[in-house]
Amino acid sequence: MYSDTHVHTCFSFDSEMDPESAVKKAADLGLFSITFTDHFDLDYPGYGDTVCFDFDKYIETIDELKEKYEKKLGIKIFKGVEVGIRPHVMDRELSAVKDKNFDVIIGSTHIVDGMDPYDGVFFEKGSKMQTYGRYLDTVIDNLEYYKNFDVFAHYDYLVRYAPYEDKIFRYSDMPDKIDCILKFIIENGMSLEINTSTYGRVSPDKAVLERYVKLGGEIATMASDGHTEAKIGRSFKKFSQFARSCGIKYIGHFENRKFIAE
Ligand SMILES: [Zn+2]
Ligand SMILES: [Zn+2]
Repeated sequence: MYSDTHVHTCFSFDSEMDPESAVKKAADLGLFSITFTDHFDLDYPGYGDTVCFDFDKYIETIDELKEKYEKKLGIKIFKGVEVGIRPHVMDRELSAVKDKNFDVIIGSTHIVDGMDPYDGVFFEKGSKMQTYGRYLDTVIDNLEYYKNFDVFAHYDYLVRYAPYEDKIFRYSDMPDKIDCILKFIIENGMSLEINTSTYGRVSPDKAVLERYVKLGGEIATMASDGHTEAKIGRSFKKFSQFARSCGIKYIGHFENRKFIAE
């Protein structure tokens, strides 16, 4: 049984998925649980403060779905949020999400030098190693702001949109930078995310996960990062086996900000 710990719905600016149909799809797949983690990313380039949603309405919607479907469909439903990390908005973001009783708070770096790599412009300046290095440097600069989070999302987010023939992000390319991030995740008791939206597009480098384990990392969460029903739980069997083969001991989900192994 798997849990999809990272799913977007129509509460996110980039998804139209109805949360109710997401729950049904997750139950059809036999998932143990689904966690909604809509985007909260203030001062987002081109969107200002609109990458945000009505937390109260969101919580009410999810609570209704729990009531209606948890017993009936035999699935657990959790509420979370994916917070975009950038120093100048962190105070506002953290004060907005605290006291909302989220089951999980995911931290992400989407924006580098004022750009989302989703827009190909980001890759126009510099080589593959330079752009990947710029992304990791930004993540490292952001680390102190990740401290209040439960899950470290897609450490290699930009590879999804990279224009290179060989997009793989290898441990051997930048071992010091990757070590810095992995050590931070472990020291702060966070979960490393196995993001199948990324891994479905660009193969992961086994050496990164093996290094996580070697440094003492034990926990991971499976994340489709799905914005449509078709993506929910995608390739979980394949990539959870991959994570286990790298030595990851515990795969699970968060409930009330606590990791629960499955
Ligand atoms: Zn993200
Ligand atoms: Zn996401």
